[in-house]
Amino acid sequence: MNKVPFLNFQPMHQKIRSEMQKAFNEVYDSYWYIMGEKLETFEASYANFNQTKYSVGVSNGLDALILALEALNVGKGDEVIVPSNTYIASVIAITTVGATPVFVEPRMETYNINPELIEGKITKKTKAIMPVHLYGQACEMDYIMKIAEAHNLFVVEDNAQAHGASYSGKLTGSFGHANGVSFYPGKNLGALGDAGAVTTDDEALAEKIKTLRNYGSQKKYHNEYIGLNRRLDELQAAFLSVKLQYLKDWTQERKKIARTYNEQLKNTDLILPQVASNADHVYHLYVVRTSKRDELQEYLNNNGIGTLIHYPIPPHLQKAFRHLGYKAGDFPIAEELSKTLISLPLWVGIENKKLELITNLIKQN
Ligand SMILES: *Cc1c(COP(=O)(O)O)cnc(C)c1O
Repeated sequence: MNKVPFLNFQPMHQKIRSEMQKAFNEVYDSYWYIMGEKLETFEASYANFNQTKYSVGVSNGLDALILALEALNVGKGDEVIVPSNTYIASVIAITTVGATPVFVEPRMETYNINPELIEGKITKKTKAIMPVHLYGQACEMDYIMKIAEAHNLFVVEDNAQAHGASYSGKLTGSFGHANGVSFYPGKNLGALGDAGAVTTDDEALAEKIKTLRNYGSQKKYHNEYIGLNRRLDELQAAFLSVKLQYLKDWTQERKKIARTYNEQLKNTDLILPQVASNADHVYHLYVVRTSKRDELQEYLNNNGIGTLIHYPIPPHLQKAFRHLGYKAGDFPIAEELSKTLISLPLWVGIENKKLELITNLIKQN
């Protein structure tokens, strides 16, 4: 058994057990399970939290990104700029709508897309930029929005890892034209199953996404588009409304855990997370870098410490995307990161004792 698992929901979920069970009972006894009051309440609360006019609850984070792109008419023949070191879902969203992902390398320091390299990748076909606030750190959104405005491009933020993060005080998920967020259980705000949302300030886009998530229909049996079923159900919405009330506290706790790691590991040879000026980091993941990554992972594993690699294979080298024609060496920074990054345990309720155990093990190594 792991002494410290990579992720453990127990402390978070034990604390809110009675509220979550009350939410379950309310839905159970309402006899209404899809597209009801709980969804509307959650959508209003999440929009309020994210400082956007609208939030549209959907089935998961990937569908949120697909719906955002679809609603903006991004599709066949279009190119979308996306970081070369993202989670696969960002890229799958782009290819699912028929568009082509155009990879831009991240900054070696922050692991977020390097805005200085974006303009060099813009062509006549470019329709949108998809910044990904990786590991919980906000991208350099002022720079990215300026480029988008200058070239008349849409921005679709992948905000799956950065609920409540901000850039120059403005929240991630509120910059782009339509933005996707995930409430996968392990995300900073997580449902007890799959869930996601699109956030936007544009009423027409919000309405279109509401239609597209529900068979292309807002009025029962009247179909405007060929939409799929990508709804967020009442139970997950009710659970999310409970958990949303704790998100600010949980984010503070994540930041505190990250500060403890930073302090304890500062004299080791690990490269610690670096935060860009004006950017906020909500530490969905605490990711460090070392040339001896595999040895470190094995050593920690042998000592009962769970770790994960986010991510071991960059999208351009995935078999699924071999038709795009990329090869090893095409995106050296993403490739280097995939070989040297490792994520340490960070979860709400992790005790200082456990952090001490982990950091002492690393210092003794
Ligand atoms: C989790 C995640 C997604 C997809 O979210 P799901 O709810 O799992 O579909 C998309 N992008 C990033 C960066 C993610 O971390």
